[in-house]
Amino acid sequence: MRSTIEPEEATRSFPSDTGASAMLVNILGITDDAKCYEVVRQLRWPEGVHCPHCEAHEVVKQGRDETEPQRQRYECRSCGHRFDDLTGTIFAGHHQPLRVWVLVLYFMGLNLSNEQIAKELDLDPDDTQRMATLLREGVVRRKPEVQLSGEVECDEVYVVAGHKGHPEAVRKKGDPVGEGG
Ligand SMILES: [Zn+2]
Repeated sequence: MRSTIEPEEATRSFPSDTGASAMLVNILGITDDAKCYEVVRQLRWPEGVHCPHCEAHEVVKQGRDETEPQRQRYECRSCGHRFDDLTGTIFAGHHQPLRVWVLVLYFMGLNLSNEQIAKELDLDPDDTQRMATLLREGVVRRKPEVQLSGEVECDEVYVVAGHKGHPEAVRKKGDPVGEGG
């Protein structure tokens, strides 16, 4: 460990934050949108793009997203399903831009705590924790296990729907109050 630096040497080398500068370069590389989408593709499709609906690998590119030009669209040759780089991932529909997610992932790789990440990226600590938790579980959103609890639930749905269309009929059936008093 060098504790003293000759003035001459100090002027020749970078300022004391050389390490930070090197890290900044890496981060700037990641914040490039094209790189971010590359990262996502590698994470979700390590063996090549496949349809999130039917898993088929026969997909064709279908242009780019209008607002995010690096976001590639695809169409499945097998089932016709249309999707893009973010379809079915934890990034879709979230208010944080993709590069913020990738930066959180990057800092997680550096073993920064959620608090440190929040501070570095000027994020809400609760938000950061939610993002980190999702990232740890994987970038592809898990399908919730569908569990139908039987006919009772179906009846409820039917009554609600019926109420919208025919409130009188539902009131007569379900609400004895007011009928003959
Ligand atoms: Zn498909």
